[in-house]
Amino acid sequence: MNLQESFQKYFGVKCEALYQAPARINLIGEHLDYNGGLVLPCAISLYIKAAVSLRNDSLINVYSLNTKTGQKEDLFRIKKDSNYGWANYIYGVFFVLKENGYQIPKGMNIMIDSEIPLGSGLSSSAALLDLILYLTSDMFSLNLSLETITKLAQKVENEYLGLKSGIMDEAAIALGKKDHCLLLDCHQFKYEQIPLSLGDYTFVVLKTNVPRSLVSSKYNERVDECQKGLKILQSKYQINNLCEMSVDSLSDVKELISDEIIYRRVRHVISEQRRVYDFVDALKKKDIPSLGKLLNESHQSLKDDYEVSGSYLDTIVLASIHAGAIGSRMTGAGFGGCAIALIKKDAFINFREKVLDEYHKKTGLHGEVLMVDIVDGPSRIK
Ligand code: ADP
Ligand code: MG
Repeated sequence: MNLQESFQKYFGVKCEALYQAPARINLIGEHLDYNGGLVLPCAISLYIKAAVSLRNDSLINVYSLNTKTGQKEDLFRIKKDSNYGWANYIYGVFFVLKENGYQIPKGMNIMIDSEIPLGSGLSSSAALLDLILYLTSDMFSLNLSLETITKLAQKVENEYLGLKSGIMDEAAIALGKKDHCLLLDCHQFKYEQIPLSLGDYTFVVLKTNVPRSLVSSKYNERVDECQKGLKILQSKYQINNLCEMSVDSLSDVKELISDEIIYRRVRHVISEQRRVYDFVDALKKKDIPSLGKLLNESHQSLKDDYEVSGSYLDTIVLASIHAGAIGSRMTGAGFGGCAIALIKKDAFINFREKVLDEYHKKTGLHGEVLMVDIVDGPSRIK
């Protein structure tokens, strides 16, 4: 049964419209968004879809084909700190819309179905938030711009769901553009679309298929560590966020920050920001070896200094290097989830087999290697 048929069966009415939103990978610039830095994500061809119809009452009736669970709540009764489970991501959107002065006149039936793995670092959550904002805007002619969708989605994550996340995931998906990556300044929310033309090379997604653990608590811990580092540096430097520091200042930074752990977190942030600039230069020059080197350096820094990788991610990254990748790194928040690798297109089949084989031998797990396209953001498909 496809999404439309399932919709009709569950809600007893035909769906009126279908929408989709993509997943995202971040090419480089990891854990920089909440440090006010520049990041470089792009939207990829794995989608979450939603089928929708308007209701005559004020219920928001939702169902996920992934979790096989549904929820009902009245538009006017949605509260903070409610336990709607996964549907918090949907009710949070309506809560934030209301807080920001948008009137939603009627309820909706919404059924979602996603090919983005949940909790794997490809941002199924931001895809869901952007999708619900996009479809609500379209159904009720709210005329939300893609920038407004980005900001409202981040508000849902920060204010409703309590995650101290930056703006990267929501922006990467809302502003996705075919064959481009998004050079995004997370402090000022300015961006530039950079063409991603790699000739004979391509990025692939490596799935560890290990559910992430402790993501939100560890994530918030890193945010706090960076804030501590920032406070110390602000005693000497006039900066608003860590990403304003240059790598030349690292020896001075080390003198100022006596706590070894905080220093390593800060060193990751400062060095990673440098790598983003270098990566963009290398992209413009189509300098593939430099891209690979920067990916590898980024992974090392996330593993050793920022400590957000983990044995499964390290194993799949190393396996991809053994299988001939030009470079490879974890992508997203880490603690399990996915990595990316830069490979030669025509080596894909062989590469895939070698990576999966080594990963299985070392972990006993079956990973996945996916060839993906770089695609546009949310859209109405019917
Ligand atoms: P990621 O964004 O990397 O996939 P998160 O932990 O941030 O990981 O978000 C995953 C959560 O998003 C899920 O646990 C679930 O609550 C929600 N979610 C995303 N997509 C769906 C879906 N299709 N159905 C139900 N819940 C979803
Ligand atoms: Mg997420």
